[in-house]
Amino acid sequence: MQPTSTALFDANAAGRVPPLGQVAAGVWVLPQAMPNPQLPYTLSYLIVDADDRVHVIDPGWDSDENLAALEEALGVIGSSFDRVASATATHLHHDHFGLAGRLQQAFGVRIGLSSVDQQALDAQGSAPGPSFTAVDFDRWGVPDAEQAGLADTFLAGATVIETRADVLLQPVDRLDIPGRTITVHATPGHTAGSICLADSEARLVFTGDHVLPMIFPGIGLGGRMPGNPVTTYIDSLSALSEFDDVEVLPGHGYTFTGLAERRAATAAHHDRRTAEAAAVLGGHPDASIWDVASRLHWTAGWEGLRGPYRRSALAQTEMHVGRVRNGDWERYSAR
Ligand SMILES: [Zn+2]
Repeated sequence: MQPTSTALFDANAAGRVPPLGQVAAGVWVLPQAMPNPQLPYTLSYLIVDADDRVHVIDPGWDSDENLAALEEALGVIGSSFDRVASATATHLHHDHFGLAGRLQQAFGVRIGLSSVDQQALDAQGSAPGPSFTAVDFDRWGVPDAEQAGLADTFLAGATVIETRADVLLQPVDRLDIPGRTITVHATPGHTAGSICLADSEARLVFTGDHVLPMIFPGIGLGGRMPGNPVTTYIDSLSALSEFDDVEVLPGHGYTFTGLAERRAATAAHHDRRTAEAAAVLGGHPDASIWDVASRLHWTAGWEGLRGPYRRSALAQTEMHVGRVRNGDWERYSAR
């Protein structure tokens, strides 16, 4: 894996938000701040079309500061809000889709999201994100005394997303961007409706949070997927192999080449976790999700995982245990 922007690579390492940069002819990267110390920015992309109109990929977290940063960036590239034609999100999360609502309302920007993620947003109702309840805690075998500590949310400060996309994207739709051919590829896993966008002519692929250069994305963070989410995610990684030789424009971190290597490392990370769960279940076939999770290796240590982090660890453990118990893992480990 080779970073393709020193400015982005250095900013990521230092944990600061880098300035606007150019990726390719007519393609710009605008890092947009988000309130997360581990992940200080989303990479938003601006594409100028043949009619000099601008298309945004992943507008970013909804804030006055990000709207102002976008306005400034548009000025730098010789454009303005009234020339923004569309904004497309790779998935439903606040740090990618959040600002879309304001662009739609204030400037009539046409908003695109996968139809699967729009359905997931609709199903979420008044919750600011996927929520876990006492029903999940009971299914996971969480001891009564531990349940209260799991209840607080990751999404402090996030509002309910009420935006409805104007264009509901399906694979293999083409984005309506004059002069460019950008195709939609379904890559379920991070969310059920996560998509990657490929510009084969310019040799670019926008991966959202499906593949990231510096962390391994979480799985199953929005919408229900048919089948096991880990297996689905790993299959979606394989589906990107046709873009192994193009530059990757991810949703966080820095742009890079070497997608094949990153896909393999990401799949191996999740396979290791499933193997670990399989080993625990080998000795304790009836173990609860809580029991398995507490025996797995976590970077922060099990005791160090508090509140929403422990809840997320339990949700991830359930997916890996499911992958062992439904036989997917046997099939994969026999590959
Ligand atoms: Zn993200």
